[in-house]
Amino acid sequence: MRNFLSGLVGKIRSFLYGRNGFDDLAKHSLIAALVLCIICGFIPRGIFQIVFSAISWALLIYSYYRILSKDIYKRVAENKKYIGEINIFKARWQQRKTHRFYRCPKCKTWLRVPKGRGKITITCVKCTTKFDKRS
Ligand SMILES: [Zn+2]
Repeated sequence: MRNFLSGLVGKIRSFLYGRNGFDDLAKHSLIAALVLCIICGFIPRGIFQIVFSAISWALLIYSYYRILSKDIYKRVAENKKYIGEINIFKARWQQRKTHRFYRCPKCKTWLRVPKGRGKITITCVKCTTKFDKRS
């Protein structure tokens, strides 16, 4: 039994060698897949259940695809981009009471302005386009 287990661990280890493994994006896709799967158990049969179930399966497959992928450089880059977006979202959420975020209509850069100043003219820091918004 002990030999069988250590043999199995060795086989799994050599199978996972050179693969991306369990990164944040894989973890979050797996959690989202499980949450959707649980939701599917509570909603009545119909189009929503089919759609939720399909999304849940897609996320599950995507998660395993990431874990088992051998193209580590691409997966690491995707994970890095994902973590960057999550950090931007967190920063915006923390500043939601003091600042507003607008996208420049020309170059699509995100701009942060203080809240509660009435109607203001925003100048884009990147392309100097001016546009009016309520802050
Ligand atoms: Zn701009």
